[in-house]
Amino acid sequence: MPSNPQTEMFPRGGVLLAASGRREFLSATETRLRGEPLLWEKRLLARDLIGSIGPMLEKILREAGLPARLRRIVSVRITRGVREYGSCNIPKADDSECRLAFSGHLFFEGNAEALIDVVAHELLHACLPSREGHGVDFHRGMALLNEKLGLHIQVYSEKSAIRQSESLYRYKVVCTACRNEFYYLRAGAVVRHPSRYRCAKCGKNAFKVYRILPSEKEKGSV
Ligand SMILES: [Zn+2]
Ligand SMILES: [Zn+2]
Repeated sequence: MPSNPQTEMFPRGGVLLAASGRREFLSATETRLRGEPLLWEKRLLARDLIGSIGPMLEKILREAGLPARLRRIVSVRITRGVREYGSCNIPKADDSECRLAFSGHLFFEGNAEALIDVVAHELLHACLPSREGHGVDFHRGMALLNEKLGLHIQVYSEKSAIRQSESLYRYKVVCTACRNEFYYLRAGAVVRHPSRYRCAKCGKNAFKVYRILPSEKEKGSV
């Protein structure tokens, strides 16, 4: 991985998120969501967002009298989660640190706002006592940050926050031998002539094609 020149894209971090710099911050984030960000680029962006808004978030919460202390973030992971958009794990043995994880499906063009909201949601957990969960102080903190930073943090994120394979793609091809799943936007060759192809994972020719129906609105956990 190259050194990290992109951190400079958030020169004033959290300050930018406040009213005046909001658009600038969002567009800097948006720029990095363009194309298909690679896994390490997603992780780098998540880290940069955390570094940019974490300290400011902690300051706002503390000033309002909330028992906030930003833990040391020992790892940031990008997951394949489609039900869980983000998580903050605090080890029982050491309350001074935490591990954050974000669904890779949050990182797509046009989704800067929703991504920042999920990052802020997990940072709120990272600041508050481990027993807090989505309790009273969490709700107070959420309302405060939404008001001061123009965010839309929620207890449960809208399903639209992530690009879900099942909502974006229209065809699912399942290998009945190994259960490997492939998603397609259009009825391409594999969808139309599955018998001509072999599964990349198990080598068998046992595809079943499904048409994906638009699923009803659900909420994801954060
Ligand atoms: Zn297979
Ligand atoms: Zn939560």
